Amino acid sequence: MKYPRLLEPLDLGFTQLANRAIMGSMHTGLEEADNGFERMAVFFAERAAAGVGMIITGGISPNVEGRLDKSKLSTVEEAQQHQIITRAVHEANPEAKICLQILHGGPLAHTTKLVSPSGIRSRISPLQPAELDADGVERHINDHANCAAMAQMAGYDGVEIIGSAGYLISTFLVEKTNRRSDQYGGCFENRMRFAVEIVKRSRAAVGPDFIIAFRVPAMDMLQGGLHWNEIVTLAKAVEAAGATIISTHFTWHESAVPTITTRVPRAAFAPVTGRLREHVNVPVITSNRINLPSVAEEVLEEGYADLVSMARPMLADSQFMRKTLEGRDEEINICIACNQACLDNAVKGEMVSCLVNPRACHETLLNYSPVTTPKNLAVVGAGPAGLAFATTAAERGHQVTLFEADSEIGGQFNLAKRIPGKEEYQGTVSYYQRMIEKFNVDLRLNQRVSCETLLAENFDHIVVATGISPRTPDLPGVDHPKVMGYIEAIHHPEKVGKRVAVMGAGGIGFDVSELISHSGVSASLDRDVFAREWGIDFDNHPPGGVTGVEPFMAPSPREITLLQRKQTSVGKGLGKTSGWAHKMALKRRHVKMLNAVSYEKIDDAGLHILRDGQPELIEADTIILCTGQEPDNALFLALQTAGASCDVIGGAFEASELDAKRAIKQACYLAAEI
Ligand code: FAD
Ligand code: NAP
Ligand code: SF4
Repeated sequence: MKYPRLLEPLDLGFTQLANRAIMGSMHTGLEEADNGFERMAVFFAERAAAGVGMIITGGISPNVEGRLDKSKLSTVEEAQQHQIITRAVHEANPEAKICLQILHGGPLAHTTKLVSPSGIRSRISPLQPAELDADGVERHINDHANCAAMAQMAGYDGVEIIGSAGYLISTFLVEKTNRRSDQYGGCFENRMRFAVEIVKRSRAAVGPDFIIAFRVPAMDMLQGGLHWNEIVTLAKAVEAAGATIISTHFTWHESAVPTITTRVPRAAFAPVTGRLREHVNVPVITSNRINLPSVAEEVLEEGYADLVSMARPMLADSQFMRKTLEGRDEEINICIACNQACLDNAVKGEMVSCLVNPRACHETLLNYSPVTTPKNLAVVGAGPAGLAFATTAAERGHQVTLFEADSEIGGQFNLAKRIPGKEEYQGTVSYYQRMIEKFNVDLRLNQRVSCETLLAENFDHIVVATGISPRTPDLPGVDHPKVMGYIEAIHHPEKVGKRVAVMGAGGIGFDVSELISHSGVSASLDRDVFAREWGIDFDNHPPGGVTGVEPFMAPSPREITLLQRKQTSVGKGLGKTSGWAHKMALKRRHVKMLNAVSYEKIDDAGLHILRDGQPELIEADTIILCTGQEPDNALFLALQTAGASCDVIGGAFEASELDAKRAIKQACYLAAEI
């Protein structure tokens, strides 16, 4: 067996988990969708059938005040709605367990009735919570216990109670949000009483043979967070109160430390779980940036945890566990931790999906059924769009020939993966390489095909995925030798001078600035560098893991100015849940950001701009153009003119606001219907 520790069953006494893989809790948006329960049933059952040991649902509030969305579980009628999920999961795999996550949003709830221990508003919420009085505290404890009982009635195998992240329970734990003077405030024993009572009363409500996992805030990642001895005390107390499993969590949502994006090293937080594990006698779950069975196996082998939670990886590939069980892990569609279709969508209130797998959360809407009459298809361009189309169409049974002008597949992902912190993007390219082999796609590298060549081969249909051409702005001096395109800058950063002006502050302008302001090893590949850059003390664990620790970014080897014409603040268009870290990293390396500029000309002195109507010179040895892209659609237009049966996808279809999420999604929908 390839992964003996990950695949080892775990005996909980009254029940057994088939293996150590947990599908972690994620809010998907299905909770509020039409036919949401039916769709969730299919979504979870598909992962259960693939062999996940235990699934934890998205957070559900125990009452009206705690709701993050419309969903709550406090009545028998609501419990009955959930039965479709639990039945589907247990039918799909009788060994699989499914727990409901009880999440009371507290000061982060999206309701007008939100509550907290001391009426303190969260930095990231516009809403003012009311302070709970003594009766309110009692009622909220009982509501959690009632929710656990309703989950049991709904057929769940257990619950996970979230005691972290800035939600209600965690705001009782820390002094900064708990100023109470009753038995729920003051010393830590009082501050943790709310959490402990919830576990105690939940256990009383559900009896002994029901899983209660409690999510302990093992590192709050904010100044004034929990002390290490408080975390240990809490973990022991919830164990004594009846928790079956302790799960560790590593952040408050308002923290200014990235904890799950692609710039975080794999399994960076697992050793913290390992330290806590030494103090408790129940199994512990670790999480964060564990995206492959090999990483999970290593974590277990090191003794950092008994169970490994993987949430986004189960979005990226519903068959993650089947492939693991069958030793086919090189076929796993890897989560690259981009957050673009999952967390970014969730915070925008949109349906969650996955950049590399648009089927995620759309299992009832997008399916790749085998074809009865295979076609002979040509695909031009092996970037994300062409790769997704070619491999999906071939999986369905079509005969596919994939032409690529370059000597390797990947398109612009071969640029993205060179950016420090985006090394994971190679995983997507490798996945597609494997799928090309598996589904016998006829890959023809180093072939820039023309309309004539394609027509000569008599394909039934041609799909053009030729991507984009970088835009060159119309500006005096744009052909000056000190001007460089972003492709050259990424391939040859050594050619970039000491003083640099980066024109265009979109995703690529930021990525190029990251690359040329970086020195030394990438933080995403080295936990010590990551800790230093974000001010985390993993070893001594000061309060919150960060209190009193100054972040240190290695200074930029270049003087960089990043410019845009828009009036909006620079970086506003970046990803909702990762853009802030991108911007903060550049600021810490003293990259200067200018908005509302207009470009005048480029000459030997540098880039001449107007700002507030005043002329300014950005002295620069190199000026890098990151000024957007135009569709590379000449081939498609020629094929159309020739009357060929053809489609166009990805950047070649539309370059404006293009990203890989849109390119892959468009490709997969076309491949599903062709
Ligand atoms: P491309 O990736 O451009 O692929 C087109 C392919 O077609 C190329 O391989 C090209 O060689 C080939 N081709 C062209 N003409 C021919 C021909 N005639 N014959 C044969 N082959 C041909 N997107 C995100 O969503 N998230 C990110 O974090 C992200 N980061 C990025 C970072 C960088 C530095 C860059 C440059 C881009 C990034 N992107 C990101 C954008 C993303 O890579 C693109 O949106 C995506 O690659 C578009 O896919 P595509 O297949 O349409 O085009
Ligand atoms: P972009 O986001 O559209 O940015 C292009 C920039 O160029 C804009 O900031 C625009 O800003 C400027 N610009 C446009 N036309 C110009 C002109 N004629 N003269 C001067 N400046 C001009 O595109 P991109 O940065 O090229 O990225 C391409 C796609 O890749 C993006 O859509 C993005 O989603 C994706 N990507 C994503 C990430 C990620 O982390 N998610 C990273 C990289 C790339 P002003 O008009 O204000 O100057
Ligand atoms: Fe992972 Fe990105 Fe997919 Fe989210 S969208 S699951 S982060 S690959």
